[in-house]
Amino acid sequence: MKAALSGNIKRGQGYREFEKTVDAEFDRAGLTRLSTHQIQNIYETNVSLAYAGGQMQKMVETAEDFPFWKYSAVLDGKTRPKHAALHGKIFRTGDFTFFPPLDFRCRCTAILLTARQAGRYPKDDMPTGRDRQKLYDNLESKAFAGSKQQKFMEWIAEQYKEADQATRKLIDQAFDVMKEEIRNLEYESAKEFFRDADIKRIEKEFLSNTRVQKAGAEAGLTKADTFRTYAYTDFENGLSADMARLHYGGELQAWDKNRLATFKKDLTKAVSKLPKVEGVVYRNLDKLPADVVKQFTTPDAVIEWDGFSSTTKSPDVHANREVRLVIHAKTARDIESVSKDADEKEALLLPGTRLKVVKSETVGQQVVVTMEEI
Ligand SMILES: [Zn+2]
Repeated sequence: MKAALSGNIKRGQGYREFEKTVDAEFDRAGLTRLSTHQIQNIYETNVSLAYAGGQMQKMVETAEDFPFWKYSAVLDGKTRPKHAALHGKIFRTGDFTFFPPLDFRCRCTAILLTARQAGRYPKDDMPTGRDRQKLYDNLESKAFAGSKQQKFMEWIAEQYKEADQATRKLIDQAFDVMKEEIRNLEYESAKEFFRDADIKRIEKEFLSNTRVQKAGAEAGLTKADTFRTYAYTDFENGLSADMARLHYGGELQAWDKNRLATFKKDLTKAVSKLPKVEGVVYRNLDKLPADVVKQFTTPDAVIEWDGFSSTTKSPDVHANREVRLVIHAKTARDIESVSKDADEKEALLLPGTRLKVVKSETVGQQVVVTMEEI
């Protein structure tokens, strides 16, 4: 878990690329260059804030396992004394006032602690009241305290307002490169969800699948969005099976329910960007419990699934299963273009979709149920 939180995301990577782009832009426009120091400041700070934002979010998700975090300064000659003063201080997960970075080019980090680990430290290490106020008063750049990303954006906006045309253009350019960097960080973080045993294979297949990557970009999905949707349709990794267990019972095999809930939220966000299917989709099922079949064959019964439900746009895919739901959908998302197996012609019903049984009939060996989304 700790490796997942602090692992693959490397700060500052890609800086050289960024600097080159900014320099080239300057040369093209024949402008005086921003100092390397200024460029690096904006760049590093943004990457490091993006990283911190992701880390804080993940920490909230795993707060049950790691209810505390410890501030850790590098403690060398370059460490600011006011950051060194925070070294070793312990805070509750969710209390992110002092979460690093606390300034431009701050190298401080957060270390996750279990309740047991936190219990071994003296009470003094958990500042409250006046001690806490003192630490806060001490901070040089208070804009970095708490929800720093928004404050940083406000700061940049302020700089932007006062800047001349040439500098503005540069900041725009810088942001394009930084956005790309942040998209890469999001992608790295999406990869961390998968097991080590699977991720190499999934990523290799994903990166070599130009159809999927092109379609994702054209639909306005980020690389992380496209990857998540693609990986969900890769049955081999067991995610869709665990997701089904989360909602319909059975022991989870590879992920705990908090992580699956996070993935569900992320995947919902991703596939919601894809076009809606107009018309009929089919959900073909086998080996259903009798009570479920009974519900499907009850006129006017309303059915709501908590998880994602796979359907197909094609009348020919899996057409011979025991139960065939013919669904007049309104909000199903067309995921064919970003699915691992395009032949499935897959469309996804989002969690919470409500369907009403219109009629059911037995055709040969098959129960055919007509439903409409309400
Ligand atoms: Zn620091």
